[in-house]
Amino acid sequence: MALAIYPGSFDPVTYGHVDVMERALKIFGRLIVAVATNSEKRPLFSVDERLEMLRTIAKGMTAVEVDSFSGLLVDYAKSRGARIIIRGLRALSDFEYEFQMALTNRKICSDIETVFLMPSEQYSYLSSRIIKEIVALGGDVTAFVPDIVAAMIRKHGRELRVDR
Ligand code: ADP
Repeated sequence: MALAIYPGSFDPVTYGHVDVMERALKIFGRLIVAVATNSEKRPLFSVDERLEMLRTIAKGMTAVEVDSFSGLLVDYAKSRGARIIIRGLRALSDFEYEFQMALTNRKICSDIETVFLMPSEQYSYLSSRIIKEIVALGGDVTAFVPDIVAAMIRKHGRELRVDR
């Protein structure tokens, strides 16, 4: 059964991420959703909080494992015995960065392939960055994120506002 890794910041998880996870599961037998621990300087949620939200979301998905990693993604993939990296592709704006990353990773490790999955169009405008902006301004994000994420945002309340 092919094992794929879906890496990202997931700060926070949105319905777009969930859509990509579900699509990946239709193609690959096992999926590791991996939180990159060294990617952001001022995260909204800690790595442990992001792991908690992903684990709650993946509860019914038996083929999904949630993990975190630091260092190079290709090294992590090799250590887990995975040769497939999943990335989501929304608009043209994602393309340049993703193209650069995929080719760089291929140069570092030629037997790892990056597979791009497009979300349902209703999520194609969604990003964690947009969610962070809405949260910072005190807006409601329940239409864009799974219940556990909305609950964690509510729990933190004001702390998550701009000053954090
Ligand atoms: P990163 O910092 O690695 O880009 P993100 O959590 O922002 O972490 O994104 C992880 C992956 O999920 C990326 O490939 C990104 O393009 C994809 N992604 C994020 N939001 C969406 C979405 N709404 N639809 C499809 N893919 C998405």
